[in-house]
Amino acid sequence: MKIVVLDGYTLNPGDLDWDGFKALGDFICYDRTESKDILDRSKDADIIITNKTPITAETISSCKNLKYIGVLATGYNVVDVDAATGANIPVCNIPTYGTAAVSQFVFALLLNICHHVQSHSEAVQEGRWASCPDFCFWDSPLTELSGKTMGLIGFGRIGQDTAKIAQAFGMKVIAYDSYQNPDLVSDTLKYGTLDELLSQSDVISLHCPLFDSTKGIINAANIAKMKDGAILINTSRGPLVVEDDLAAALNSGKLRAAGLDVVSTEPIKEDNVLLKAKNCYITPHIAWAPIEARKRLMDIAVDNLAKFLQGTVQNKVN
Ligand code: NAD
Repeated sequence: MKIVVLDGYTLNPGDLDWDGFKALGDFICYDRTESKDILDRSKDADIIITNKTPITAETISSCKNLKYIGVLATGYNVVDVDAATGANIPVCNIPTYGTAAVSQFVFALLLNICHHVQSHSEAVQEGRWASCPDFCFWDSPLTELSGKTMGLIGFGRIGQDTAKIAQAFGMKVIAYDSYQNPDLVSDTLKYGTLDELLSQSDVISLHCPLFDSTKGIINAANIAKMKDGAILINTSRGPLVVEDDLAAALNSGKLRAAGLDVVSTEPIKEDNVLLKAKNCYITPHIAWAPIEARKRLMDIAVDNLAKFLQGTVQNKVN
């Protein structure tokens, strides 16, 4: 059984091990695979494991031994799932490893915008506190979250976990989702229409998947419906946001700030308009990556494959 991992580096840059996969067959792991090498590296594989390396219909039809595709992530849009289904090959993902990590990261971005901890610390290290005539100083507005309203677009696992943290901060929550669970409604949480959420929220955080129906959901028309000075957080997928429209809203001051862990093209392009937008804080798609979450991801990926080899498929998306 030949197991090929095409791009293992981001899951395991050296602080985890691949022993679980090694115990299941002949194992080879590439840190990364360029497009021109995908076919060559996959052609004899029984099992292909990918994170962000695309597995096209052409790859699937060329790999004559292929029996299983494992995705080292929740999102599986890198695989041509229809082609895999047509070839009777299960595609298995990791649905839940990162919920706590991503919801925590929403607040890492948001609290940075509220307090600018790093830039104030740098100012202190540069000597500005030592030379300050007063006992304290701050460079940017400081914001208390208690009493503010957080709008969550997409209210699945991560959205709901984010809501719990928001409520612990004393925030009210408005959730917008195509599916509503009345059991989740409380004094501090209500469902609303998208327009209600846009017009009433002080902070808007995106937690819906990238579908045709959600692509570009943050655009000029919807930004115009938001409160002046609202804050946008995106840890979901970059193309949910029309980046030119967000940059314009930040530069005009319509939006106070944005915290983004994802952008339209990753890695980010040097000419991405958001790199020069005002009050735009961008991290390199790291919400998922605390070691605890990556360890969980590795364990589930191994378990998915072990179960498949024993004849029970789990976390199949097709
Ligand atoms: P989930 O499937 O549990 O929740 C998604 C929710 O979005 C569901 O409740 C669904 O009903 C809702 N939804 C679908 N279409 C919608 C629409 N048109 N409008 C409003 N809501 C809609 O997924 P999750 O585990 O909460 O993950 C959410 C997203 O987070 C993933 O799709 C992924 O893109 C992203 N993510 C990012 C990272 C990261 O490192 N930044 C890590 C993991 C996941």
